[in-house]
Formats: sequence, C-alpha cells, structure tokens
Amino acid sequence: MSNRELAIIIGGGIAGKLTARVLSDSFKEVIILERDDEMEGPISRKGARQGDHLHALLHAGQNGFETLFPGITETFHSNGAVNINSTKDLAWFHHGVWKHRYDGNKSTTLQSRPHLEWTMEQYIKEIPNVTTLYRHQVKRLLHNIEENRIYGVEVSTSDGSKATLTANLIVDASGASSITHALFKKLNLTIPTNKAEIGLCYVSKRFRLPKSQTRDWAIKLIYPNPPLEKIGGTISQIENDQHVVTIIGYQNSIQEKEVVKNDNSFLELAKRLPKQDIINELIHAESLSETSVYKVPHISWKRIDKVKQFPKGLLIIGDSVCRIDPVFGQGMSIAVLEAVTLQLLLQDGKLDVEQVQIAFHKEIAKLISPIWNMVLTEDFRYPGVTGKTPTGLTIQQWYSKKIFLLSASSQNVYASFIDVMNLVQPPTSLLRFGIMKEVLLHGVFKKRDS
Ligand SMILES: Cc1cc2nc3c(=O)[nH]c(=O)nc-3n(C[C@H](O)[C@H](O)[C@H](O)COP(=O)(O)OP(=O)(O)OC[C@H]3O[C@@H](n4cnc5c(N)ncnc54)[C@H](O)[C@@H]3O)c2cc1C
Repeated sequence: MSNRELAIIIGGGIAGKLTARVLSDSFKEVIILERDDEMEGPISRKGARQGDHLHALLHAGQNGFETLFPGITETFHSNGAVNINSTKDLAWFHHGVWKHRYDGNKSTTLQSRPHLEWTMEQYIKEIPNVTTLYRHQVKRLLHNIEENRIYGVEVSTSDGSKATLTANLIVDASGASSITHALFKKLNLTIPTNKAEIGLCYVSKRFRLPKSQTRDWAIKLIYPNPPLEKIGGTISQIENDQHVVTIIGYQNSIQEKEVVKNDNSFLELAKRLPKQDIINELIHAESLSETSVYKVPHISWKRIDKVKQFPKGLLIIGDSVCRIDPVFGQGMSIAVLEAVTLQLLLQDGKLDVEQVQIAFHKEIAKLISPIWNMVLTEDFRYPGVTGKTPTGLTIQQWYSKKIFLLSASSQNVYASFIDVMNLVQPPTSLLRFGIMKEVLLHGVFKKRDS
C-alpha cells in the first residue's frame, strides 16, 4: 500500500473542507468525519456556532478560495452573496476617525458564514474521491507507541455505535476545542503555546433594514478606541437582503445574561457603541433572528512546529493550531493560506507524507507569526490583557496608531494598510519609505494624536 492511499480529516468546517480539496489531488481516498448533520442549506449549525456572527472574507482568503475552487467567487454571488467595492462601500470608524473612502478597484464578498460554508460544501460534493461521513464524532486518536505514529481514529455515530478507522494520514481540523489536546495530555507531550486572555464576547442578530436613499455603505465598522472604549460593532449586508449586526466587547465588558433578555436588550447594547450609527439603523429595522452570544476568553497559538517528539501521521490545521482574535476577520483566510501551503508541499512530489507533515507545521508557523504579532500589538492596548507581549510593543503600537490615523486622510497609507489587513502584503510593507515618511511627518506635526 502506498502511503497516499487514505487520508482522514477530523472536522468538516472551513479548514476541514479546504484540506479535503487539497488532499483529494494526492490521496486515493479522503474521508471527512463531521459530528454535525449534513447542512440542508445556508443555515447555522451546532458544531460551528461562531457562524451566527459576522464572518468577513479577506482578499487573501478570497484569492485562495479561487485557487482551490475555481469559479467559487462567482458562485457565491450567484447564490446571493453581495459583491462590494472594498474601500468605497466600507465605512470604517477606527481609533476615533473615519477611514478615507475611495474606489480602490478591489472587491470583497459579503455573506454569512453558513452561506459561504454551504457553497463550499456543494463544491466538495463534486469531488469523486472525497466522502463526508456526518454524525461521526471522533472520540480518540489511535497511537502506536513503538513507532510514535497516529494510525487511526475511534468514532461514535449518532446511533451510538462505535468504529475504528485507519488511514495513512490523520488531519485534525476539529477547530478551537481540538480533539488532539487529549492525546497530547496522554502522551505527556508539552506543546509550547502562546496565549493571551482577552475576555472577548460576541453578540449578533440579523435584521432587515428599511429601504433608504441615503445609505451609501454596504458594511460599517465602529471599532472601539482602546484602552478606554471596549465595545465595538459592525453592521453588514449579507445574502437575502439581510443585515447581520455584530457587537463585540473586550475585557469582559459585555454580560451575556443582560443581552439575551429580549430584543430590546440588543438595542440597549448597540447604544453603548462609540457612535450611534448602528442604533440609528436599527430603530426601524425588522428583527429576523434570536440574539446569539459567543465568548472568546482567550486566543492561543500552539507551536506544533516546536515539538520534537510530535507523532507521525498527524497533521493539524486551522483553529486547532491557532485561534486568533476574530475581530480582525482573519481565521478563515489563515485556514485558506494554510491549505494552499499544504497544496504546494504535496505538489512538489519530492516529499513523502511524513516530510510533508513536518514541513507543513514549520511553514504555517512562519505564516502565522507576523499575523499573531500584528493582532497582539492591538490586543495589548488593553492593560487587562495577559500573555507574552510582542517585542518592541510600544514602538509598534505607536507606529500602527499613526497608520490608523493617517488612513483617514492619506489614500496611499490606507491602501497599504488595507493590503496588510487583508493579508495580501506583510506588515513590514508598512515600513516602506513613502509610508514611513508620512508617519514621521504626522508624528512631528500631530504629536497630540499619539
Ligand atoms: C465569534 C467568531 C467570529 C469570527 N469571525 C471571523 C471572520 O470575520 N472572518 C474569518 O475569516 N474568521 C472568523 N472567525 C474564525 C473562523 O470561524 C475560523 O477560523 C474558521 O472557521 C476555521 O476554523 P476551523 O475549520 O479550524 O474550525 P471550525 O470552523 O470551528 O470547524 C471545526 C469542525 O470540526 C467539527 N468537530 C469538532 N470536533 C469534532 C470531533 N471530535 N469529531 C468530528 N467533528 C468534529 C465541528 O463540528 C466543526 O464542523 C471567527 C471566529 C469566531 C469565534
């Protein structure tokens, strides 16, 4: 048996589906084991409750989706997703100023996460050597101690029966509550983990807004200005002429019990935003859903790449490796970039599965590192955040604040910042001469902003 006979993927979320697409090119057979029922449409599901909340797809994610599923952007749109101009149709209040809006010739697709995932699912179904087994919950990983190899999984199905399945490669794409934690504990394997306590709470609800002749945006972001403001919000158009409103609170500033009492409690929460734009839209809006709450007490990045005795035959991807602060809208795009990395390693053809596994964990650490650093630089503006601080934090925070403020008036700076935020350019691109010059001039003449 060649070692590319069968791959099993634990979890059929975003990372699981992306991985299945990639592995289908080089494995004879790919099986996804998903604990949830099959999606019957673009409807939120139990296993991925974060799907009730705004899920932005960044340019890097959009590009990667096209690489892996050619034509999917067009399908998103024909299924009802909204195609917008990324810089003209986005109204963004950030660090106390509105970003400069202009026609930047780049587009963004707005849709709910269930809508995105359901469209992906239709593409996965078309791949002949990928099978998804729904209502299959993986209970544990099977480990051969002598070889230090993961060779299979034990699953239980919804009718209570148990089975074991073996494969050449097992992929953990089971999300933030990753199934492999239990295995690491059992093997006494310490995974060096970067962690920060952020006390973040998400609260969301869908609405239908009354028609308006003056509404000139498709998505509006009202970010809190840290450290004093802790609550922010977004209102975004999605499919079916609906809007999703997501309110976020850092540092345990939102009490779940208060916001789920009734429809009015959501409106009361919206009134606590730094600007009244969102509440003004909601006063005459029709409520279309219950209020959903999702808590992210901490974010973490497991340094799988640093573990010496990491078992063979196991690859970890998506939120199972790194749950980043979701406010920056990067999680799905990181999963896409990871999947494309895996594709490149497999396409090479020179590496066997074990070498791919090792190289993959190293490569994705390089990919995550600058993003993690960028996010933590912002999260650490709140004094209550705990965890390892990034090096040069104060200067990084000073510099990025200048970038945020300049994005209100300088198209040049905002365009570069948009590319970094969308993960198509590294944060170091903001250190280019032209940008740095503007930052320094701003530093000299507008000291009071810093
Ligand atoms: C509140 C919130 C808002 C977010 N907003 C954004 C955003 O705006 N933009 C963005 O790009 N990202 C966002 N994210 C991040 C995004 O949701 C994830 O990064 C992305 O879904 C990739 O996750 P994943 O596939 O690794 O995990 P998930 O999507 O969580 O999928 C994990 C899957 O594994 C299944 N599973 C779990 N355990 C088992 C088991 N034992 N056996 C079988 N199946 C199992 C689950 O049912 C689920 O289907 C947000 C996250 C949160 C929490």
